[in-house]
Amino acid sequence: MKKVTGFLIVIIAIVSMSACKEKKQINPFFEKWDNTYAVPPFDKITVENYREAFAKGMQEQETEIASLIDNPETPSFQNTIVAFDASGQLLAQVENVFFAESSANGTKEILELESEIIPLLTQHSDKIWMNQKLFEKIKFVKEHIDYTVLTPEETMLLDDLYRDFVRNGVNLPEAEGIELKKINEELAVWENKFAQNVLAETGSYQLIIEKEEELAGLSPDLIAGAATRAEKAGLAGKWVFGLDNPSIMPFLSSDTNRELREKIFTAYLNRCNNNNEYDNKEIVKNIVVLRKKKANLLGYKDFAEYVLEKRMAKNAKNVYDLLDKIWSPSLDKAKEELAGMQALIGEEFQLKGSDWRYYAEKLKAEKYNLSDEEMRPYFQADNVVKGLFWVTNQLYGITFNESTGIPKPNKDVQTFVCVDKDGVTELGVLFLDLYARPGLKTVGAWCGTYRNTYQDNEGQRVKPLTYVSCNFTPPVGNEPALLTADETETFFHEMGHALHNLFKTTKYHLTCDVPSDFVELPSQFMEHWAFEPEVLAYYAKHYKTGEIIPQELVNKIQAASKYGQGFATTEYLAASYLDMDYHVNPSPETINVPEFEANTLSNRGLLTQIPPRYRSTYFKHTFEGGYTAGYYSYIWSEVLDADAFEAFVETGDIFNKEVADRYRKYILQPGGTYPADKMYENFRGKQPDSGALLRNRGLE
Ligand SMILES: [Zn+2]
Repeated sequence: MKKVTGFLIVIIAIVSMSACKEKKQINPFFEKWDNTYAVPPFDKITVENYREAFAKGMQEQETEIASLIDNPETPSFQNTIVAFDASGQLLAQVENVFFAESSANGTKEILELESEIIPLLTQHSDKIWMNQKLFEKIKFVKEHIDYTVLTPEETMLLDDLYRDFVRNGVNLPEAEGIELKKINEELAVWENKFAQNVLAETGSYQLIIEKEEELAGLSPDLIAGAATRAEKAGLAGKWVFGLDNPSIMPFLSSDTNRELREKIFTAYLNRCNNNNEYDNKEIVKNIVVLRKKKANLLGYKDFAEYVLEKRMAKNAKNVYDLLDKIWSPSLDKAKEELAGMQALIGEEFQLKGSDWRYYAEKLKAEKYNLSDEEMRPYFQADNVVKGLFWVTNQLYGITFNESTGIPKPNKDVQTFVCVDKDGVTELGVLFLDLYARPGLKTVGAWCGTYRNTYQDNEGQRVKPLTYVSCNFTPPVGNEPALLTADETETFFHEMGHALHNLFKTTKYHLTCDVPSDFVELPSQFMEHWAFEPEVLAYYAKHYKTGEIIPQELVNKIQAASKYGQGFATTEYLAASYLDMDYHVNPSPETINVPEFEANTLSNRGLLTQIPPRYRSTYFKHTFEGGYTAGYYSYIWSEVLDADAFEAFVETGDIFNKEVADRYRKYILQPGGTYPADKMYENFRGKQPDSGALLRNRGLE
């Protein structure tokens, strides 16, 4: 013991000596990032650095805004609108890096800082968006400017900015303004708590299996993954399954033990609904009540009306109209699927929700002689990545070159430089973080940016840094990671977002984003290529033999491609209705969450065997925010992407360069320069046809 202590003292002495020699380490956020692509020096950033940089970032933006307000010159587009757009860059930088990390590497310290910082960020944002002196200047510009001298992007910037100030309550009388600030702060705290509870309950659950026979039906790599998970949990020799999708979903579709399936499924459905410290029922109610209050204060009937005003859908009626149009055909299809599975089971028992995936897989195998496990060996993760890169090369002529010298946030991350078709122009950097890190990484898959593109003071395009984060099962031992068909599609999806980020050519910071019911167009658009025969022929190679996927299997994949759409569409629509119903409800204070959820679903005749894709207590899209009264966005965007893909199909060439060029020019490059419906019309020459969506899903 003593010896150990002595050893420690020596180390401390060396560390402090070297600390004396060097000057105090500067916070990386306060220096220029001196590497080729100005990438955040991830390994040098400490939690303390984030805390300090958040504080300085907020303070810096306040100073910038104060000098904008104090500027004695007549307010102009340049000294007001552009100056506002350029403010807060340090803060944006910290936020981008920090929130990427809190989702992908959420250590206890990071999550604690997240809880601490979110209310401060909300206060800061309110201080700006409710600043009347600042608004007066913006209003002056809007009322006096000659719109004919503005570019479309500048017009959009000015009009959006003006509208956002109004929407954030700048015109409210003082007392109501104070009330709104209070609501915003409370909301931010609840939304964050909601998400952290979901992370905690998803990460802490373990289905521990001790008997080998209880693994019957599972693939060898799934079993190996469960053994590794058990080992990490100090349960060597056993097998552990969790509630994250890569673990639970294959378990549900292939483990033969009906009771175990039900056990894990019940845990999955009841996340944050267990009347413990992570229970989200009251939090859901608090959030919905506060959102309604906020909407009312700002003069809107309900929160849906408030958020939809800025979307392509415009209002709740348009959303419900679309959902209703697809609901009946989906439900009919789901009933057909159920009947097929029940026929397979016979009289023995009635199929339950926890049986659905298992028998769906069995029926699929019977109908098409195809199983996920048969496909997996051909979907090695590295090959899928290469396949996607090849597709983007065929469409746009771009290449992704792996570059190992770029700083990365985690050793599992791969970095690529995206080069344009001229072979010279670098469009930006892509970070791929494909694998699950249970307990650290949020579930699901997403794409974001460490930095968006914009034009610097010299008019040069700043290269964006975009990342794709997934939760695929990591390679086990010497075996490579093999993806399911779903995961492959997910990867194509997220890469669609990444391409959008890489192609944008917007000049300003605030014109980069598009409405959230348009944002899934670029992502879902890419999904169409994942299983096209010529694409499969390129990337789907057996991980052991290198054999290209046999034509017979490709035919089967094609034939089965619309299988299960009844279930998939219905569970998705059920969640979309739930999200909308909460936010058009006229009296949320009377809501009892389990009852409300049950009513919303049974009123529409949802089958009891199909739970909504997300139940209320773990519906992060809507209750953490981001997709509030917006989960419908995926299907709204799908109307667009199905129609956009038909533009290629109609030419007889899914790689038609002329159509791809138009798509890049009118959809991917402009960011938020034009209204979304205008962008679509520019590309297609007409508004989309919702029939394409039904055809695409086989629901006609
Ligand atoms: Zn997406």
